[in-house]
Amino acid sequence: MPKDFLAGARDSYDVVVIGSGLAGMTAANILGRAGYQVLLLEQHYKLGGMATWFKRPGGHIFDISLHGFPHGMIKSCRRYWTQEIADSIVPLRHIRFDNPMFSLTTSYDREDFTRLLTTKFGVTQETVAAFFDTARGMNFYDDQRLTTRELFQKFFPGREDIIRLLMEPITYANGSTLEDPAITYGIVFSNFMSKGVWTFEGGTDRLIGLMHDDLLKSGVDVRIKCDAEKIHVENGRVTAVTANGRTIKTRAVVSNSNLRATIFRMTGEEHFDKKFVQDAREVRLNNSSTQVYIALKPDERVDESMGDLFFTSTAPLFRTDLLLSRDITSRTYSFYYPRTRPQGRPRCLIVSSTNANYADWAGLSDEDYQASKQDLIDKTLDHLDRYVPNIRERLDHVEAATPKTFQHYTAHVEGASFGTKFEGLAVSRALPEQVKGLYHAGSVGIIMSGWLGAINYGVIVANDVDSLLMKSPPPQVSSQ
Ligand SMILES: Cc1cc2nc3c(=O)[nH]c(=O)nc-3n(C[C@H](O)[C@H](O)[C@H](O)COP(=O)(O)OP(=O)(O)OC[C@H]3O[C@@H](n4cnc5c(N)ncnc54)[C@H](O)[C@@H]3O)c2cc1C
Repeated sequence: MPKDFLAGARDSYDVVVIGSGLAGMTAANILGRAGYQVLLLEQHYKLGGMATWFKRPGGHIFDISLHGFPHGMIKSCRRYWTQEIADSIVPLRHIRFDNPMFSLTTSYDREDFTRLLTTKFGVTQETVAAFFDTARGMNFYDDQRLTTRELFQKFFPGREDIIRLLMEPITYANGSTLEDPAITYGIVFSNFMSKGVWTFEGGTDRLIGLMHDDLLKSGVDVRIKCDAEKIHVENGRVTAVTANGRTIKTRAVVSNSNLRATIFRMTGEEHFDKKFVQDAREVRLNNSSTQVYIALKPDERVDESMGDLFFTSTAPLFRTDLLLSRDITSRTYSFYYPRTRPQGRPRCLIVSSTNANYADWAGLSDEDYQASKQDLIDKTLDHLDRYVPNIRERLDHVEAATPKTFQHYTAHVEGASFGTKFEGLAVSRALPEQVKGLYHAGSVGIIMSGWLGAINYGVIVANDVDSLLMKSPPPQVSSQ
């Protein structure tokens, strides 16, 4: 008989959270701490969603999305998770760039960028200060017609090199483009510029392990291998969730699954009004990624002067379409030194990431897909060899992931790495106006993306759920 992953679960909960990405786990933790009965359903055998890792023989542990996040993570983790988690967040000191326009190393904060822009790029102090102040002053309620390209043109007209310096890391960090509203750039850029780029010491496995412990302490019923198939709606409000064939009653659902999957696959468009359905259909997914994971032999080391994050490109100019092209010109390398996992076996690992289109990988035959993956690995090693000489002889393990891999493991439509484009935020926020008790929390709208954005969105939605549940009395149902 197959194992029942819902064995012992109650028949009803105050809240069912679908998905254990950072937003889902954070919402579940806050609601559990507040005393609600919370069920967290995760279809995968691991918690974390995109915040994940995998192990390979030889003591190698690869992180998928632990490349860097803003300093704000410390505050969010201290408040909504634990002091131990917050205390493990440490700065990345060396961010490097190498492209046909410039090569430089920076601590990636306002002070150092001001130094670079004035001394290396010849911009006046006043212009730099005005640009930073404008970016920092941006908020969600600003005029959304100004694009990032127009913002740059205003302060640095004709300066393709400066656009590249300012934009390349943010495009990497959240997939945003020069054509997106400038606020998607301003908010994320300012978050990083406040105190640079940070990481989690001990690796994603340690982080998610600590979060799991805290969820249990908060009384959350955590279930892996539980695929939520259906969200039930009666008379305009959420009543239950079906997972692994079992229907469980609930007063509220927080879906951390992809926004479109939540609306069209799990709930059904018949429960929403026409205009909402149309808006939801028009929400564009963000792009996906390819990654090449490289583990060096146990006694091989890379000097830390290589940097922690290294933005490389062979393209003469910065162009968004080039960043997504199958003909790869831009690669961002994350170098993981033995200090990344002080508790583990000392290892050096390198992960090369490139933004990618799902469509470029989805339609390939099995044979072409495997060949394309091998080509991705070969070309990445060729490129890396110029920075880490003799890489082929020094490596112990190499493999690649594509948009199809991300889709497979996270159930994200088209393997979207950062949820949806900007318009997804309004649709996500409007869900509970359409169906009472139905919420979405997860990477959406570029701003609410990445580790910090996802956690913070989980906080916002947990507060919304809390106010709903405080207002409406629990239904009269018997529970086990
Ligand atoms: C290659 C890559 C690199 C990245 N690098 C960084 C980085 O350096 N810094 C950064 O801040 N961010 C990075 N990100 C982005 C970041 O990882 C994500 O934005 C964030 O982790 C997403 O969290 P989320 O809460 O939206 O949920 P997700 O991580 O998308 O998780 C959703 C969860 O829901 C589960 N689920 C879906 N449907 C169901 C269902 N029907 N039933 C049950 N469970 C379901 C999935 O299995 C998954 O576990 C990267 C992403 C990728 C792909």
